[in-house]
Formats: sequence, C-alpha cells, structure tokens
Amino acid sequence: MRFLVVFAIVVGVLWYFLRDKKGLKKNKKSNEEMMVECSECGTFISVKEGIVYQNKCFCSKECFQKDRR
Ligand SMILES: [Zn+2]
Repeated sequence: MRFLVVFAIVVGVLWYFLRDKKGLKKNKKSNEEMMVECSECGTFISVKEGIVYQNKCFCSKECFQKDRR
C-alpha cells in the first residue's frame, strides 16, 4: 500500500513537470513567433513586436491610435 502511494506521488510529480515543460515551450513559441496581421494596415508582424489590445494586434503605436479614434 505504501509503495502504491509513493508510486502515485512520483508519477504525479513527473507528469506535472513534463506537462509544465511542454506548456512553457509551447507558450513561448506561440507567443513570440506567431505572425499576426495588423488590424489597421494589414502588415504582418510577430506578436512580440506588435501591440495587442482587445484581441486586435497592431504593428505600431500609430496604427493602435488610429483604431482607437
Ligand atoms: Zn499597422
């Protein structure tokens, strides 16, 4: 019985770490390398470079301000 408990904890910890590692990798890639279209002028930029506001993405402050007007 004790063995089962230890086994369950080990599996749980391993699963948690593996899942966390995968999640971080996936998030990092999708956040930094994903290309999106500017809602204002249609230029493609990576999410890292752009401005994201209310599910819209803008290539620059200028486009962001145009949309807000
Ligand atoms: Zn733009």
